[in-house]
Amino acid sequence: MNVLFYNTLTRKHEVFTPIDDKNVRMYVCGPTVYDRPHLGNARSVVVYDVLYRMLMMVYGPQHVTYVRNITDVDDKINAAAKTNGEPISALTKRVDGWFHEDIAALGVLPATKNLTGKETVKDAKGIMGEPHATHHIPHMVAMIEKLIANGNAYVSQGHVLFAVNSYKDYGQLSGRKLDELVAGARVEVESYKKHPGDFVLWKPADAEDDASSVFPSPWSAGRPGWHIECSAMSSNYLGDHFDIHGGGADLMFPHHENEIAQSRCAMPDSKFANYWVHNGFLTVGGEKMSKSLGNFTTVRDLLDKGVKGEVIRLALLSAKYNEPLDWNENLVHNAKQTLDHWYRTMIPTSEEYVSSIWNSVFVHTLTKDLNVPSAISQMFGGSPHDLYAKGRILGFFNMTADEWFKGTDNSVNKQHIEFLINNRIAAKKSKNWAEADKIRKELAEQGIILEDRPDGTTDWRKA
Ligand code: AMP
Ligand code: ZN
Repeated sequence: MNVLFYNTLTRKHEVFTPIDDKNVRMYVCGPTVYDRPHLGNARSVVVYDVLYRMLMMVYGPQHVTYVRNITDVDDKINAAAKTNGEPISALTKRVDGWFHEDIAALGVLPATKNLTGKETVKDAKGIMGEPHATHHIPHMVAMIEKLIANGNAYVSQGHVLFAVNSYKDYGQLSGRKLDELVAGARVEVESYKKHPGDFVLWKPADAEDDASSVFPSPWSAGRPGWHIECSAMSSNYLGDHFDIHGGGADLMFPHHENEIAQSRCAMPDSKFANYWVHNGFLTVGGEKMSKSLGNFTTVRDLLDKGVKGEVIRLALLSAKYNEPLDWNENLVHNAKQTLDHWYRTMIPTSEEYVSSIWNSVFVHTLTKDLNVPSAISQMFGGSPHDLYAKGRILGFFNMTADEWFKGTDNSVNKQHIEFLINNRIAAKKSKNWAEADKIRKELAEQGIILEDRPDGTTDWRKA
């Protein structure tokens, strides 16, 4: 089965040829653990979860190694710990736990253990498939030493910087040129930099930095730059040369550009990653959902309102992975309706049956640059067994139909009901009586009785 990806590095759709089809290797930039994941972060995690599942179907689960790191040392973490008035390690440990709780609710598989045996992916503290940056400081220091020795980095005022003009292909991934970087730089460039585009490999700690973010090095007691963390962790687990490197489109520059520069210069014979895959943004009213813009909703916010994890998962998969997806209530509403319909229709089968369709048109569709929306459209109109198998392949049906519907009844999903009531009020205003009646009926089926009041508002109660 031919797998096809859009490769950001070559800007082309390319047939995917693994370096070793008995060990297909993928690295994806994971979260910086300073706050609860928002839906934009979740989109990235869910997209690569489906990509991982697809690779396992094509090459066999035991032949795929998937590493997703945890960035637990970073300026943003130091700043957040300071604002909260808590130790850094307490913050990162708590957020790490939240991250895992939230992505598990979305049906995301744990990152890999390599089932082929001897090279089981464990980080220094024994954590499977999920290296923590703070457990790999010696690897980063060693890589920085190599870069200095190779003439690609220099020490300045306790910092170590990567010299961008020492690497002739700098800018290849993002399509940026060095002179544009000079022109685009802020007026005052930090005094320790030779070139405005030079980036930090190591920085000295500030006097008030919490001891849990201060590490020894030959240059200063301090911490690594963010980019070197991923270069060091990926080569440690996947080798100097591996197949796929993924992350959100915002990471293309400077993070991934800098990873490529560091890794290729520290390991001059290596190409680093062959295929670069980037997920598109989750947006709100056309703007990227982000912590800094304040336009974010966390996964936990929605779960607490009674929106089920699989509903969020389906909503996040409703656009192609590399296109933007605008978040709104309708998306959640439609995903809920679809899953209700699927849970009503599907009939569970054995896991053998599920794997028997690994070589079907459905999976073929996924291999074509991960065309999940097209695959989802094939989940309507088939047999109940096929529906189940396809759903399992995409990470759905993690509960029985009974559990699915019982959950809804018990927790009367207030937000969902109010959303429908508002739609009905709008329908009545525009004299769309058929739509208003349809919503009343739909709610009645869920045991919700509506009472219209003279002032135009609507009350509801359980039957
Ligand atoms: P961060 O914790 O901000 O480094 O982000 C973790 C991951 O989520 C990265 O791969 C980001 O590219 C991705 N990400 C952040 N915001 C969004 C968004 N609005 N849409 C899609 N992916 C995002
Ligand atoms: Zn990274």
